[in-house]
Amino acid sequence: MIDTLILGAGAAGLSAARALHNAGKRVVVLEARDRIGGRAWTDTTWEGIPIELGAEFIHGEHVSTHALVRKFGLTTLPARRHEARYMHWHVSGDRLRAMDDLPPQLAQDWATTSALYEALAARADDAPDLSLRDYLASHHPHWNDDNYRMADVLLAQTCCASLDTLSCADLANEMKRDRAGKLESRIAEGYSELFWRMVEECSIDVRLNVVVRSITWSREGVQVTTEAGEIYAARACVITLPVAVLQHGGIQFDPPLPTAKQRAIWAFRVEPATKLIYRFKTTVWQADMRYIAHADPTGRWWLPGEERRDASPIITQFVTADRAHRSDNLLEARALAEGLEALGMVLNVSAEGIQQSVTKSRRVSWAHDPFARGGYAHLPPGHADARAVLAAPLDDVLFFAGEATAYDSNPQTVHGALDSGTRAAREVLA
Ligand SMILES: Cc1cc2nc3c(=O)[nH]c(=O)nc-3n(C[C@H](O)[C@H](O)[C@H](O)COP(=O)(O)OP(=O)(O)OC[C@H]3O[C@@H](n4cnc5c(N)ncnc54)[C@H](O)[C@@H]3O)c2cc1C
Repeated sequence: MIDTLILGAGAAGLSAARALHNAGKRVVVLEARDRIGGRAWTDTTWEGIPIELGAEFIHGEHVSTHALVRKFGLTTLPARRHEARYMHWHVSGDRLRAMDDLPPQLAQDWATTSALYEALAARADDAPDLSLRDYLASHHPHWNDDNYRMADVLLAQTCCASLDTLSCADLANEMKRDRAGKLESRIAEGYSELFWRMVEECSIDVRLNVVVRSITWSREGVQVTTEAGEIYAARACVITLPVAVLQHGGIQFDPPLPTAKQRAIWAFRVEPATKLIYRFKTTVWQADMRYIAHADPTGRWWLPGEERRDASPIITQFVTADRAHRSDNLLEARALAEGLEALGMVLNVSAEGIQQSVTKSRRVSWAHDPFARGGYAHLPPGHADARAVLAAPLDDVLFFAGEATAYDSNPQTVHGALDSGTRAAREVLA
């Protein structure tokens, strides 16, 4: 008899599997795709640089990912994209400016924008929950459209959301617990390598290409039925499926999940997240540029190979929410062409010149992926308690993990997902 079935071989599922395996439990992981890693997925076909198609950064020097990176002998490379000299802002009609060269008023407003999370950490627990836009309007009455555009690109888009749908109470909850640290890095070998090492270390039994379709549960245990009609029985089950997959309804629960759990699932919003990746013959940007942000539809750009001086010049555009909707609704070739046009405009390089220099490009749209159905989940105002409700076990048989459940860590991240898997494993063992 399997002790615990784990649904999903992303960060949360593999970390739960590892913790349960190390506690002597018989664990089987069911994964719909033909690979592990979920929303972290490294493409190794870009001439030596592992390109992250999903999660790219380790956000913070204190987060749990580093212990795994060290354990498996992997290397991290510092990502310095947010340092003022490397980060560039472009307002339409202006030139591209490093953050330490912004006009004084914008520089002052940028300082308030970047300090927003610290300000939210001081928010009273019983203050009314507002959208990020309403919070900014009440705290910064002098802000104009440019300020809101900057906050949209640098804050809301990072959270895969718009200013109108982000709950300040949820952000504040996270900030109050946040111990991650400010330094960012990448895994030199790529995120996928980390997950393969986790599986190999414990010979975790992962079954690929197994699409879960229904979960029958009672106090005695669970039966999981797959698309191919196979049935897996176990004493307990850890569900790490993305919230948008649960919302989609492709997985039946028998009996249905309690109303509170269903409400929690439906409280989340999941917006698209899309990357456009381009490789050039030679760099078309200046040497001290590592990050560009601007208010136009193409949003944010950075250099996946920023620490590798010998690497091919590769740039990634990352858009979420309304910007990603727009990109996803175009044919891939059109989306890539528009992205390139925007890059040329921001860098002040002719469209023709920049096009001729491209040697490879691709779009990765997570909303188009049936096993993700979007980027990462956020909570609108009034629903800040949904993470803990989603995470709560049912009858000591169904357990819940995944980035959206990371109420005691940083949701929307790989380390948050890893922490949620460890938390769910502790709950199973208890
Ligand atoms: C474009 C993008 C960029 C990001 N950038 C960063 C970043 O820089 N840093 C960071 O920390 N985080 C980043 N994130 C967020 C991070 O990727 C996620 O928070 C994390 O990987 C989620 O892990 P998870 O285990 O909760 O879910 P997932 O990784 O989605 O794992 C769930 C698993 O369930 C499987 N599954 C789905 N349906 C079924 C089914 N029916 N049957 C069986 N299996 C199923 C999926 O295939 C998947 O493998 C990014 C995410 C995206 C999309």
